[in-house]
Amino acid sequence: MKVLLVGATGFIGLNLLKFFLEKSYEVIGIDNFYSSSERNLEILDNYKNFMFYKWDIRRYPKFLEKYDIDIIINLACPASPKWYMKDPVFTLETSFIGAKNLLDLAKKKNSIFLQASTSEVYGDPEIHPQNEEYRGNVNTLGSRACYDEGKRVAETLCYEYWKSFNMDIRIMRIFNTYGPYMDIKDGRVISNFITQALKGEDITIYGDGNQTRSFQYIDDLVSAIYKYITISREELTEKLKTKFNWNTVPTLNLGNPEEYKILDLAKIILKLTNSESKIVFKEKFQDDPKQRKPDITKAKYILNWEPKIELVEGLQKTISYFKEVLF
Ligand code: UDP
Repeated sequence: MKVLLVGATGFIGLNLLKFFLEKSYEVIGIDNFYSSSERNLEILDNYKNFMFYKWDIRRYPKFLEKYDIDIIINLACPASPKWYMKDPVFTLETSFIGAKNLLDLAKKKNSIFLQASTSEVYGDPEIHPQNEEYRGNVNTLGSRACYDEGKRVAETLCYEYWKSFNMDIRIMRIFNTYGPYMDIKDGRVISNFITQALKGEDITIYGDGNQTRSFQYIDDLVSAIYKYITISREELTEKLKTKFNWNTVPTLNLGNPEEYKILDLAKIILKLTNSESKIVFKEKFQDDPKQRKPDITKAKYILNWEPKIELVEGLQKTISYFKEVLF
């Protein structure tokens, strides 16, 4: 089985890469190192069934046409608010042109195409928890829009290719995920809080800390992705249609529905790290979603999957990883 993993050296990419290589899949990795480091490749030194190309997916990767590719997984796009807001036009181009180039390649190579979408397509949601039918509440003119709308239009592209060319396309809407190989400077809440707690720096809460998120440990996401790409197209389509009356591109929320206030998350991390850091409150970000929690009924039924790792256990593993990296 040959997998093309685009965005291979980011947090999710690296974890997936390790998983596939340990399963002896052949993997071609691509990244432009926009929000990840070339040094991340060092952990893959021992694997033989792996090729890597530095490439910006905003350009069509013609050179990949010479390979047989069974599956393309498109993770390419900066996903942390700090990174995707840095160059919003780049984020939009990567989301749209990148997805288009990869869909064209998948069409040519007859590959399964798995698009990484996001809970951000729901924006600041008015329904809770969010199921896949919910159409979202996104401000097109806000600072998060480059990512949210980029990912939304990429879903639309998937839909149009699926409809026009009868391709095997699958969309996953990934909710907040954390774990080893997260970049300590990613700017996201868990990496920030753990780093601050371990260094004895102030824990920065943006807003009053009453906003919620639901956090999924990376191993749970990897197992869901594996099940999602290995289920047959027939079974996937049939189950979605008969059980959920879902007749469009297969689309699944992947996340952990256990929901936490950001303030409570800070307290848990302080406790687990034995830290004396103080909690300080900073200005809230524009359009910051007030609540987020996935409805994973579909993924549970279709993939026979559910997240297994609870927050405290996942945080303990992540804290150990951060200690190694920081000290
Ligand atoms: N957040 C925070 N302090 C930080 C980083 C993030 O309070 O140092 C908040 C952020 O404002 C948001 C939540 O934590 O309400 C999750 O932010 P993150 O950037 O991890 O991901 P998001 O779910 O917003 O994409």
